[in-house]
Amino acid sequence: MTETCYKSFIGGRYLANGGGETLAVVNPGTGEAIYRIEIADESVLEAAVNAAQAGFKVWSAMPAAKRGRILLKAVALLRERNDDLARIEVLDTGKPWQEASSVDITTGADSIEFFAGLAASLEGNQQDLGGDFYYTRREPLGICAGIGAWNYPLQIACWKAAPALACGNTMIFKPSEETPLGALKLAEIFIEAGMPPGVFNVVLGAAEVGAWLTHDTRIAKVSFTGEVATGKKVMAAAATTLKDVTMELGGKSPLIIFADSDLDEAVSAALVANFYTQGEVCTNGTRVFVERPLYDAFLGRAKARTEANITVGNPMDPATNLGALISKTHYALVLDYIEKGKSEGARLVSGGHALAPKGVEGGFYVAPTIFADCTDDMIITQEEIFGPVMAVLPFDGEDEVIARANNTRYGLAAGVYTKDIRRAHRVVHQLEAGICWINAYGASPAEMPVGGFKQSGIGRENGVETLKHYTQIKAVYVGMQPIESPF
Ligand code: NDP
Repeated sequence: MTETCYKSFIGGRYLANGGGETLAVVNPGTGEAIYRIEIADESVLEAAVNAAQAGFKVWSAMPAAKRGRILLKAVALLRERNDDLARIEVLDTGKPWQEASSVDITTGADSIEFFAGLAASLEGNQQDLGGDFYYTRREPLGICAGIGAWNYPLQIACWKAAPALACGNTMIFKPSEETPLGALKLAEIFIEAGMPPGVFNVVLGAAEVGAWLTHDTRIAKVSFTGEVATGKKVMAAAATTLKDVTMELGGKSPLIIFADSDLDEAVSAALVANFYTQGEVCTNGTRVFVERPLYDAFLGRAKARTEANITVGNPMDPATNLGALISKTHYALVLDYIEKGKSEGARLVSGGHALAPKGVEGGFYVAPTIFADCTDDMIITQEEIFGPVMAVLPFDGEDEVIARANNTRYGLAAGVYTKDIRRAHRVVHQLEAGICWINAYGASPAEMPVGGFKQSGIGRENGVETLKHYTQIKAVYVGMQPIESPF
């Protein structure tokens, strides 16, 4: 293991803490520790809030167009350093280089670019009241806490920072303890782009550090990405000081394939919706409903393409298209779900076991797995697995599939495949999900708002809509004549 030990990034520089407590970060692709991080203690967290308060004074007073220009410089640096940053993401997460180098940094930069462009468009309105009038100002909230998951570490940091900073807020970001380096590099890039110190700070550590942020009275908002159970804790803590919240949580999303679909396109969507980032994507379509006339053909093609086209191996190898799961604990959890699927009577069509690819035997690899003949009451069709496990369920007719698709506490995403344009819209309009795709799956451009219905979330990220979640309206009444008084 190298001796490199990263510290929290506060007020434009790395800041050591008093206690010096550290933890190791493991490369899931090899199972080896690659560096350590210092866990932020009370003194670092205090420094973060002080820095963010000082940063807020400067940043919120800056003309929005100037904020936008600084954010655009950061975008240029992110794109310039794409490969270095992608390498960090591969080593931290275990995802394939193929993906990280073409998607993770680019989609993070896209979001910052989008909100940089919108910064100067923030505006209020005014209304005449017959002499007196009022006007509104759209003002920033103050210090926002960002708490991120481990599956898209740099992208999540960008998606949270972009709208928050464009609107004039400052941010204290806590990355997952398993994938902290991307957020630190983003903090360095913001400073290099000319952002004042204290506008974007990164505190390192595990759940306690996140929990501290959710309780602090000086923090106005928490934007959280993670599991539903953690989201509930975060929201309960935020409620003690009535903080605003954005919650981007888990899902068990349906992908509905009608019999008139193009078979190969539908199979492509199902493979992307289950095996991209080795299944560790919140919007994954893990309940694949296939209309009965297409069912056997779908399973045959899905199995053939999975076994012929998926290469599991060292995530840094450009030929690898399915990498390692995030940790040994998560790997054991995913394998346990696979065993549950077998014992519940789902028919194993492909995979269903761990893998130890040559040269990276210590990593956490699971074969892409397809279960057929799944039923709605099985654990594997009810719980979020967050691994490469596809559950395929047959269905007979539109009304039946809509009811079954909606029969979940989650409501993050949904997909529909059909050539019948009216049916596509009719079905989508009845699905209880915040993000829906028609004859597509997984694309999430910066222009499009994303977020969940039901227990999958509150608020939205990306899209113009998100500006509302990072600003508050101030109404100003202006009296043009002497005030009337009964006293
Ligand atoms: P977790 O909920 O375990 O953790 C998310 C973050 O919260 C981590 O930084 C974690 O710290 C921190 N945390 C843990 N406990 C607390 C607490 N009590 N108070 C404050 N912060 C806390 O999620 P995972 O990291 O396991 O990520 C996977 C989950 O994220 C899946 O459910 C997935 O669906 C969801 N997700 C949702 C997305 C969306 O946009 N809807 C996008 C991506 C993922 P640490 O890990 O360091 O302990």
